Amino acid sequence: MAWKHKYEDLLTNAYKNLPKISKTTTRFEIPVVSGRFEGNRTLVSNLNQISKKLDREVKHLTKFLLKALATTGELKNNNFYFVGKFNSKRLNEKLGQYIKEFVTCTQCKKPDTSLKKSKGITFKQCQACGARSSVRSIK
Ligand SMILES: [Zn+2]
Repeated sequence: MAWKHKYEDLLTNAYKNLPKISKTTTRFEIPVVSGRFEGNRTLVSNLNQISKKLDREVKHLTKFLLKALATTGELKNNNFYFVGKFNSKRLNEKLGQYIKEFVTCTQCKKPDTSLKKSKGITFKQCQACGARSSVRSIK
């Protein structure tokens, strides 16, 4: 019996020494694409800000979007012009796909990742949990 008590004390101490789990979870706010139609083109004015927020190169993001929308486009004075009419629902859907594929961690779903290249393969490396997964390269 004495041993049992001791063991229970040990357990209690072990729990006491565990770091307190923080209850404040910083929620990741998904940026919203803002744009408007200009003739037969779609002008998006905040891709630079979005890519900064996601910590990705704007070129990487625009290449993804062009491919996803199967169109062409160009960056002009901080505005990105997509050829064709794409409503905000469609654009934000594609941005969501980009974030899922290239920004949020596949394991812990946090956005604290960075893209790293190694031997021609791009990896998404998570700063929060350390998970690493390969991502496709956008050409
Ligand atoms: Zn993670």
